[in-house]
Amino acid sequence: METHDNDAPLERIARLEAEITSALADRDLAADADERSDGHHHPAEAATDAELRERQLQDTLRMRQQLERLTRARAAIAAGTYGICVDCGTPIPDGRLIAIPDAERCVSCQSIAMRRR
Ligand SMILES: [Zn+2]
Repeated sequence: METHDNDAPLERIARLEAEITSALADRDLAADADERSDGHHHPAEAATDAELRERQLQDTLRMRQQLERLTRARAAIAAGTYGICVDCGTPIPDGRLIAIPDAERCVSCQSIAMRRR
């Protein structure tokens, strides 16, 4: 695969946005269907359902946050600051940006940011 294209980051961001948006749409539909089909659950199933729902909520939250980062990444591309670590100003390696198009920090700043939380 070639990586010479200047538009590649934008394409990756657009693709990821589309994936997340459709995953979120599917999820909303699934949640609606779930509520309508309620009423035949055993107590044991209800516990697993609650766990599953909790995990789905966290997934949804994570996807929404990723969408927000992707929006910021688009703005950064427009401003010419995409791929530069927001904390230390070091260029983020291409490999990392390809794997995580919404990465805002280099690996070391990201691990510091995660420890701070
Ligand atoms: Zn950094």
